[in-house]
Amino acid sequence: MGDELRRRMETEAIHAGEIHDASGAHIAPIYQTSTYTFKNMQAIEDWAAGETEAYIYSRGGNPARTALADKLATLEGFGIGSAAAEIFGSGMAAISAALMGMARAGDHVVAQQVLYGSADHLISEVLPEYGITSSRFVGLEPEALDRELSQHPNTKVVYLETPANPTMTLIDIAASAEVAHARGARVVVDNTFATPLLQRPLEHGADVVVHSTTKYINGHGTIIGGAVVAADTDLLEESIAPLIRFTGGVPSPFDCWLTNIGLKTLPLRMRQHCVNAAAVAEFLDSHQAVVATHYPGLAGHPQHALAARQMDGFGAMAAFDLGNYEAATRFLDRIELCTLAVSLGNIDTLVEHPASMTHRVLTPEGRAAAGIGDGLIRISVGLEAADDIIADLDQALSD
Ligand SMILES: *Cc1c(COP(=O)(O)O)cnc(C)c1O
Repeated sequence: MGDELRRRMETEAIHAGEIHDASGAHIAPIYQTSTYTFKNMQAIEDWAAGETEAYIYSRGGNPARTALADKLATLEGFGIGSAAAEIFGSGMAAISAALMGMARAGDHVVAQQVLYGSADHLISEVLPEYGITSSRFVGLEPEALDRELSQHPNTKVVYLETPANPTMTLIDIAASAEVAHARGARVVVDNTFATPLLQRPLEHGADVVVHSTTKYINGHGTIIGGAVVAADTDLLEESIAPLIRFTGGVPSPFDCWLTNIGLKTLPLRMRQHCVNAAAVAEFLDSHQAVVATHYPGLAGHPQHALAARQMDGFGAMAAFDLGNYEAATRFLDRIELCTLAVSLGNIDTLVEHPASMTHRVLTPEGRAAAGIGDGLIRISVGLEAADDIIADLDQALSD
């Protein structure tokens, strides 16, 4: 299809996957039902022969889930033609299904060093109990990944998160995918921080994208959800998506419905999130009480060039270092507009202290190796007026 015929992402976010049922409802109803009826035995035979499509039971599928999956697959697959997705009851249900679908006992997973806490725990503690071993590559360069892969020829999955939580380090997806594919491994990218609006890993050669839809995709802080998207529809439909039926990590129809509506404004939200975050990051970077600001959009970010190449915007997650625990505590006790809470990607600005909250499970040594000091604060810049966010940060940082 020529560019001129192709709908843009803003349009797809609103219209892709939408259900228009016989009621004529403009916004699809919520099919709040656990089971589906058949008219007679012939209807069952037709469905079994693949002649008709039918929902049977809401663990297997529900219209709102299908609508959301189609919309997200359209956005993540935007540059590659097509992709397939399944929606899960949480980001962690999605991540575990992706890993269980791609690796078996005897296989190995290589992951980057800094990861979302629960993904870190799943890969380093839980999967090994089932015979799926794992190791980390230290450093962000493709050479470091290649060295690690050469040590583990049974690697089936390379697991990446970029930008990474909470230090805002980046991984070159295209270069990593090339290295991984040459060694016979597939690449999974957690795209929660960037969303398909700012980064589409499948376009850069990744095989699978995972999301916590709890964050920007839904955007309003009202649900817990997750998604797996794959370029290879067979991989998704045969190896990953069926696991939702047997592990049971399903989302409710209502949560899918809310998320589908949230996703419609993602393009608009991400644009303003990026504008606000750039202003906040510049303010933090020039403040004398701030030791360091980590935001890929700052020219001083060590991977700013990679971010500019790989992303269509720098996102709204940032971290800044106040030097020590006391300074961080003083700041967090004084914020008024911004809210002290984990999670991210909401319309409200949220701040948190990784060492005591999201990354508390790591050992102090593990945190130090990952660059998570006691003075580090993570901020998810919201959609309030940037001036108001900055004024609150300013008063909380003042002497
Ligand atoms: C929140 C989050 C997850 C886990 O998702 P849940 O919806 O909380 O299960 C995974 N990865 C990243 C980057 C996250 O921020």
